[in-house]
Amino acid sequence: MKCALVTGGSRGIGRAVCIRMAELGYHVVINYKGNQAAAEETLAAVRAKGADGELLQFNVGDAEEVQRVLGGWVEGNKEKYIEVLVNNAGVREDVLMFWMNVDQWRNVLGPSLDGFYYVTKQVLNGMLLKRYGRIINMVSLSGLKGTPGQVNYSAAKAGIIGATKALAQEVAKRGITVNAVAPGFIRTDMTAELNEKELSAQVPMSRFGTPEEVAEAVAFFASKGASYVTGEVLSINGGLYS
Ligand code: NAP
Repeated sequence: MKCALVTGGSRGIGRAVCIRMAELGYHVVINYKGNQAAAEETLAAVRAKGADGELLQFNVGDAEEVQRVLGGWVEGNKEKYIEVLVNNAGVREDVLMFWMNVDQWRNVLGPSLDGFYYVTKQVLNGMLLKRYGRIINMVSLSGLKGTPGQVNYSAAKAGIIGATKALAQEVAKRGITVNAVAPGFIRTDMTAELNEKELSAQVPMSRFGTPEEVAEAVAFFASKGASYVTGEVLSINGGLYS
């Protein structure tokens, strides 16, 4: 059974990606950190597309938990194979560097950068053995241009961009592609408290994007047709920056 694992699949962009993966016919493994009710809603949406899926709760930034829960899942589900991995889970904790304490640095770097490492390590071996796989990392405009007030978040996302390009070259011969998607302002819980009207004025398209618009790009990278595209970062930002 071919599976797509989406970290942070309970809400926002991750949920839209789960639904898109269901449309592509994947059995969707929906990771989330704590919001079980939202994760159940995603699963219902996946099933409404005629596909199936399951929930897998773990904190991507916790090495032991990823090993125990995801590693245990991989070990105990030999008939299932994660063909698509979407490293989407991420958080932001914005503060100017002058005031940023070490916890605010680690709280952001942990789930994003460490999480990429912990989760990908559990899944990569199966892809190498099958000589096929698609890894898509959710980064950000902040990782490309840097955003003031987000030194931690920008560093985490820039780190994943570097990892995307390096890993892409390591595994290219094995039929595995590794790409990244870099959204600008997307309407989700993460951006709920931002002043959308004011910030939209900075965007050439004069609006925030939708999770579905991001999921469409993930679907392209996940497709068989994207077989000669690897190590790329695709901006989805309404023309804000390129
Ligand atoms: P969101 O609405 O805040 O949702 C975050 C998701 O990540 C939730 O499913 C949450 O699970 C999960 N999550 C958070 N920490 C986790 C952890 N440690 N382990 C496992 N799951 C965890 O965020 P979003 O806006 O959809 O963002 C998704 C990704 O896109 C992030 O990587 C973000 O940095 C990136 N991004 C977003 C924007 C934007 O404008 N929204 C722009 C650029 C990049 P629970 O529901 O269980 O809490």
